[in-house]
Amino acid sequence: MTLTSRLSERLAAHGLQANKGLGQHFLLDLNVTRKIARLSRAGPEDHVIEVGPGPGGLTQALLETGARVTAVERDPRFLPLLEELGAAFPGRLSVILADALKVDETTLAGPEGARIVSNLPYNVGTPLLVKWLTGPFRPGSMTLMFQKEVAGRIVAEPGGEDYGRLAVLAAAVTERRLVLEAPARAFTPPPRVDSAVVHLTPHANPVSGPRLDALQAVTAAAFGQRRKMLRAGLKALGGETLCRAAGVDPSIRPETLDLAGFLRLADALLTKA
Ligand code: SAM
Repeated sequence: MTLTSRLSERLAAHGLQANKGLGQHFLLDLNVTRKIARLSRAGPEDHVIEVGPGPGGLTQALLETGARVTAVERDPRFLPLLEELGAAFPGRLSVILADALKVDETTLAGPEGARIVSNLPYNVGTPLLVKWLTGPFRPGSMTLMFQKEVAGRIVAEPGGEDYGRLAVLAAAVTERRLVLEAPARAFTPPPRVDSAVVHLTPHANPVSGPRLDALQAVTAAAFGQRRKMLRAGLKALGGETLCRAAGVDPSIRPETLDLAGFLRLADALLTKA
């Protein structure tokens, strides 16, 4: 089997079938994976960390850009296929057999940093995103495939049902863009819902440290009771007094408050502490 064989044939030749428990829905069409690689803006000068390479369709497209790829995969069954891929791009693919929730990306990336590109396993997509938005590792960019509904929650603006903690957190740290929609039929096996890719570029001065912790505390409290007025949702953190200190109307619902308003609440919380 060579790389010129179709990915579906290479998968079959290795007797591999998707394990749904690990969120395995593969992109076997290189036209799609090359589009994602282009959207990621990865190039020869880049190091990319890819979570969940699986059979390697996206990995191959990333390697074709000239980038160096470190792929973190939990399922050892894919190692032989990924070895074949690595042999076609000598010295540019490292595969780490590990749970991406537990790896230290700062060590993997080294001093030059890395972009993150992934067709994420649905069951751990949101916790991984939160780890990359709030953890010590600062990706150069993130190009991530999620269930469409989750992608919508990441890029949401105030005023709608989708707007919540994820949108506020992502907006505090990055520039967010939904860059590609992928119907369920693009995957093998097809998932129950459609998917979409978001591209996140970190702000030059992202919210971080205690201010980010405080922002997470106020958004968790406020959206924990999203049908209630802010004064009620934020009761344990100071309620009406906190809102007044932040210059925020205590009678509004959290889904109408923009990032600047939540940051004023976070700052008021820090001042109070
Ligand atoms: N990148 C491949 C593609 O696009 O065809 C596979 C994507 S599939 C949606 C998700 C991949 O993530 C699977 O290969 C799965 O084994 C892997 N995976 C699931 N949970 C993981 C985890 N916690 N850490 C690392 N990889 C994981």
